Amino acid sequence: MNKPIIELLRKAVGREKISTEEHVLQERRHDYSYISQLDDFQGRPAPEAACVAIPADTADVVAIVNTCRENSVALIPFGLGSGVVAGVIAHPDAVMLDMSGMKRIRKIDTHNLLATFEAGVRGSDAEAALVKQGLMLGHYPQSIEVSSVGGWVATRASGQFSSAYGSIEDIVMALEVVLPNGEVLETRMTPRAAAGPNLNELFLGSEGTLGIVTAVTISVRWQAEKREYSAFYAPDMEKGFELQRNIIQHGWEPPVMRQYDATEVKRLFPDQFRGKDSLLIMVHEGPTGKVAAEIKEILEIAADLGCEPAPVEAVDKWFVDRNHVSTFEKYLKQGVVVDTIEIAAVWDKIFGIYESALASLNEVENIVVASAHSSHCYRSGLNLYFTFAVLPSNSSQMADVYKDCWRRVIEATYKGGGGISHHHGIGRNRRDWMPAEVGETGVNLLKTLKAALDPQGIMNPGVLIK
Ligand SMILES: Cc1cc2nc3c(=O)[nH]c(=O)nc-3n(C[C@H](O)[C@H](O)[C@H](O)COP(=O)(O)OP(=O)(O)OC[C@H]3O[C@@H](n4cnc5c(N)ncnc54)[C@H](O)[C@@H]3O)c2cc1C
Repeated sequence: MNKPIIELLRKAVGREKISTEEHVLQERRHDYSYISQLDDFQGRPAPEAACVAIPADTADVVAIVNTCRENSVALIPFGLGSGVVAGVIAHPDAVMLDMSGMKRIRKIDTHNLLATFEAGVRGSDAEAALVKQGLMLGHYPQSIEVSSVGGWVATRASGQFSSAYGSIEDIVMALEVVLPNGEVLETRMTPRAAAGPNLNELFLGSEGTLGIVTAVTISVRWQAEKREYSAFYAPDMEKGFELQRNIIQHGWEPPVMRQYDATEVKRLFPDQFRGKDSLLIMVHEGPTGKVAAEIKEILEIAADLGCEPAPVEAVDKWFVDRNHVSTFEKYLKQGVVVDTIEIAAVWDKIFGIYESALASLNEVENIVVASAHSSHCYRSGLNLYFTFAVLPSNSSQMADVYKDCWRRVIEATYKGGGGISHHHGIGRNRRDWMPAEVGETGVNLLKTLKAALDPQGIMNPGVLIK
């Protein structure tokens, strides 16, 4: 254990904000990633950090960053630990920076539709505060009850209603960030600026490697006047992609557009299962007239493409279950390797990637499930969310099988011309494929940025790039 840093931090911010309690250290060793949970389960647990620092405000974060930098001690930001790509793994010499103590809502401005949250505010608490004033975030990751606003920025998260309301980068208006040198950057609250590169973008997706996000101002919305559901069958995934492309390219933007392949329809919507058909479910929101017009037009677009309406009970079911967070425990106990991988591609590449990733997964020995759905639709492309489950004959193979499945999906994606992560981020799971994603030049640029901002390399080392 790195004792000197514990005492130095206690002097800097007060004893009560630096914890070495066993359960606090234990619970902040890693994020939610399957591989970290498998390592715990199979007796290779991630170590505990030297201590957990729990800042109460931005001044505390500055003092913690300065103390760590002056002593060349690694600092690992921890939001609420719902990340799924091993972006958080403790180290005995490192300090874990638990942001959950910074949970104040600084301001809700109903005139400019802006809300400023400290980084540790839980997503569902942010939404609840807005709802009281008739507002909403419009950003609803499935993990909204177990993730923080700062974590959303750090991972470049995307919510279930993104097709109309955008992902986190579309709604972040301004950030407060503590830089590795201890300075506090506050980006300006203007609706747009032509003042050089957008500095918010440096930290969106930086996964704790370039600075600590301490506050986030989000451009919020009034709650929708009307909400309706619709659903359609498409004879296969490719036809369903065509339906989605036509809907969005005609200017219609249902906030939720999710298309499940037949395997997933059977598993998730057994009552709506219809052989080979894929199922597209949609939520329409907005002014009543707009919602009615959207539904009417989409019915016509679907009919032109030979896609039949499906029962909206499927959407009811999705709506009720949409924030469910399942645990890996039962799979680990049964020796099942399971995970999801999200990717994205332009329209003329997405079906090829769907086919080749599933074909490759289906070659894995003892594969039980290989399936996909899309959940985020764009004028120029779509995401896909692959699910795999494998039951290796020997539990000692589980980690290798897991890595092999990841390799297969990621390789099928970049070879097929897609992007290797749509919204979960890079962490350690995808780090080795960053050269394929951004090129050697891109990796070198990221390294140059990292070296300029964090020359001692103390900020979440080992994540994003090697
Ligand atoms: C069941 C489930 C469903 C999910 N659904 C979605 C979804 O719909 N959409 C989606 O985008 N993601 C989803 N995720 C992934 C995860 O919830 C997001 O990545 C989320 O943004 C992580 O937030 P967190 O506060 O839990 O961050 P953590 O897991 O604690 O940290 C994630 C990364 O961000 C860094 N970090 C955290 N806070 C800060 C900060 N304040 N400053 C700097 N760096 C920081 C950490 O070091 C780490 O690298 C899901 C996860 C689960 C388990």
